[in-house]
Formats: sequence, structure tokens, C-alpha cells
Amino acid sequence: MSEPGVIPEDVLAELLPPDEKAEGRAVAVIECHEEIPCDTCRWVCPVKAVIKPAITTPPRCDWDACIGCGTCVLACPGLAIFMVKLDGEWAEVSVPYEFLPVPKRGEVVWALDRVGRRVATAEVVRAVTSKDRTSMVTIRVPRGLAHSVRAILPPEEGTEG
Ligand code: SF4
Ligand code: SF4
Repeated sequence: MSEPGVIPEDVLAELLPPDEKAEGRAVAVIECHEEIPCDTCRWVCPVKAVIKPAITTPPRCDWDACIGCGTCVLACPGLAIFMVKLDGEWAEVSVPYEFLPVPKRGEVVWALDRVGRRVATAEVVRAVTSKDRTSMVTIRVPRGLAHSVRAILPPEEGTEG
């Protein structure tokens, strides 16, 4: 049984890209599975890679079309979109981030799973901030954590410990 607020495993499996779609290229991972009246992700995507036939239909990403621009990550009001890029034994995971200060490239942060558990420390690869001040922080994690890390905690929260 899944924890409250956490996507059930069988649903999640359908939202994650097969390895070949994310090998060497960043693609969006849209973890939005409720029938909510929102389609921001569909409208902001510059290449129409978000499939969403009706406003309450849960979105899906066309991973072949996705160019990994991150626009949808920054625009999603539910903070439900991430990006994953597989790279050999490593992976880059990009997560939305709405706190200040925004971690900088080279800093070490905590990588958290979907229920907020600290699963690893990770180096920040890059961070970008949108005009509305939402940021997207990309971290480098072992490949095996590509589909479990979905948030970060800043270094002052005790990466040394
Ligand atoms: S990452 Fe960019 S190209 Fe991919 S689905 Fe999001 S907005 Fe579209
Ligand atoms: S913008 Fe975010 S919350 Fe809205 S439909 Fe897309 S993924 Fe879901």
C-alpha cells in the first residue's frame, strides 16, 4: 500500500521514461496523475510534447518530442514535473525549488525521495530561476536513484551529518 499523497507504484511505473528515452538526454517526467483542471504544462511546452487531450486528463510526456528545456518544470503550479537524464552510472535529476537561497553549482545538498527521506548527498550541477522566481535545481546522483530522488534540502540542513 502506498503512503498518503504518494503516487502508487503501479501508476508511477507508467509515468517514468524507459531508459532508452532518457539516456544521454534530459526529458520531462510528469508525475501528475490526478484528474485536476489544469493544463499549464501543455500550454508552456514549446514543442507540444505534453499530451493532454482534455483539461482534466492527466498529462503524459511524449519523450521523443521532449527537448528537455525545463519550461514545464518551472511553470507547473503543483511542482509535479521533474527532468531526468541518464548518463552511464550517473543521472542528472532536475527538481523545482521555491526557497531562497537557491543552491549554487558545486554545492552539496541532500537528495530526498518522494516522501522526504534523505537518500544521498548530491552535487548541484546547475540552477536556473524563472521570472516568477521558481527555480529548477539539477543534481547529479547515482543512476539507481534517478527515479526515486525528487527533492533537495539545502546544505545548511546538515549534509555533514
Ligand atoms: S521539458 Fe520542455 S520540451 Fe520537455 S515537456 Fe517540458 S516544456 Fe516540453
Ligand atoms: S501544470 Fe503541473 S499540475 Fe498542472 S496538469 Fe501539468 S503537471 Fe499537472
